Amino acid sequence: MSELFRRDPRAEWIARNRLHPLHQTLDSGPVFGPTGLLRKNPHIIGFIGPNGLKRIDRSGASNDTGQSTRRTAAAREVVLPLHQVAEPAFYIVVVLDLVSGRLNGHDKDTLGLAQQLANRNNGGGAVVAIAFGELKDDSLDKTGVDRLIHLDGQQYASYNPEQRCNDLQGIIAELVPQHILLPDSINGGGDLGRRLAAALELRPACGVWKLNDDTVICRGSAGKSDITRPLSKLLLVMEECCEPISETRHESILMPQQSSQFADGKLFDHGNISVDPNAIPLAEAGFILSGGNGINDWPQFHHTASVLGATEGASRVAVDDGNMPRERQVGATGTWVTAQVYIAVGISGAIQHMQGIAPCDKVVAINTDEGCDMVKRADLSAIGDSTEILTRLVELVEHRKQTINEGATNEQ
Ligand SMILES: Cc1cc2nc3c(=O)[nH]c(=O)nc-3n(C[C@H](O)[C@H](O)[C@H](O)COP(=O)(O)OP(=O)(O)OC[C@H]3O[C@@H](n4cnc5c(N)ncnc54)[C@H](O)[C@@H]3O)c2cc1C
Repeated sequence: MSELFRRDPRAEWIARNRLHPLHQTLDSGPVFGPTGLLRKNPHIIGFIGPNGLKRIDRSGASNDTGQSTRRTAAAREVVLPLHQVAEPAFYIVVVLDLVSGRLNGHDKDTLGLAQQLANRNNGGGAVVAIAFGELKDDSLDKTGVDRLIHLDGQQYASYNPEQRCNDLQGIIAELVPQHILLPDSINGGGDLGRRLAAALELRPACGVWKLNDDTVICRGSAGKSDITRPLSKLLLVMEECCEPISETRHESILMPQQSSQFADGKLFDHGNISVDPNAIPLAEAGFILSGGNGINDWPQFHHTASVLGATEGASRVAVDDGNMPRERQVGATGTWVTAQVYIAVGISGAIQHMQGIAPCDKVVAINTDEGCDMVKRADLSAIGDSTEILTRLVELVEHRKQTINEGATNEQ
């Protein structure tokens, strides 16, 4: 087995959260603090004494299982209980946004709300996720998808609302779902949901952020007021309307489905066009390379950002030191960013910086200190000198680009 140190942030989070149902199943092994000292966990169950009473072991011996190390324990995969719906009593349909073929936070929150609806009253409902186009995400089973309908093909390579709306009408006629949920987003869901409402002659509940028994609370008046309205069949939901699924696995059974024969589509969104990444407002950038006090070679940082096609960000120290302009500062007193991928190079993860990156989907940390807060927050970390890691990263990306170009030339 590879000796590479691979972190599993989810397992680490469960190990830290003593209220999580799987907490006891995780044997985290001996824990060393950032200084390298062995930390004792006074809360860990020690052993049952001879008189049958639970004894707390303060020696730390029961922390140390002998064979398991912190690294292998963190890498161990958490097996969540499987939630099965053999004979669905009804369906809840969720149309995913799937930005770049992957689930984003908004999709996951929508699936969380769909599971709430599927398990209301006596439960028995199944959540059917509908994915259009390329699907790169392999975590559907951990986000609450009981059934999956995947429509792929050339016609779904770009956003084509008329074709999708037509397909959805066919699927809805077949499944007769109790509710249809879409993210109320700019990534397709908001537009598609409103088209679907018009096509099905349904009155949608838009901007839904809370589900009560038989009502939903929606944001109205440009976010200034709340409107309570009856729970409708078609719901366009906001981000953070519900906690994403985190404690169960789902079957994600593929339901075969043909795309509808529809040739009248007049609208095609051909996707993003390439622009200068630094011309994108920091708050809207999807991919940010951010530099901090751990950057020793700023020209190399700018070169890396341009090779990766990333928008540049910075910590306050980098800005105060005059290495980056003020408008690039990320954090509480800078810009709050919402990137899908945020790479923090040589940034320690001070609370003011963390506040600004809270909504980011995936965080990658490059740092010499494996115990710093940014590494703890990150989904992926590279521990080492920033100059060396960025040099290697640029080499890899350039090599990959060259291979792709050669492949394209050979095909012609
Ligand atoms: C009122 C107030 C508001 C603030 N607002 C903000 C804000 O909006 N945004 C913000 O960012 N900060 C803000 N700060 C500052 C914040 O508290 C931190 O001081 C700042 O974020 C630290 O920046 P840093 O992580 O780049 O530097 P440091 O804390 O110095 O961290 C440098 C990191 O680089 C690593 N490192 C060192 N050498 C290397 C190397 N060769 N290779 C790789 N890694 C290396 C170190 O291990 C360390 O983790 C605010 C502070 C206050 C008081």
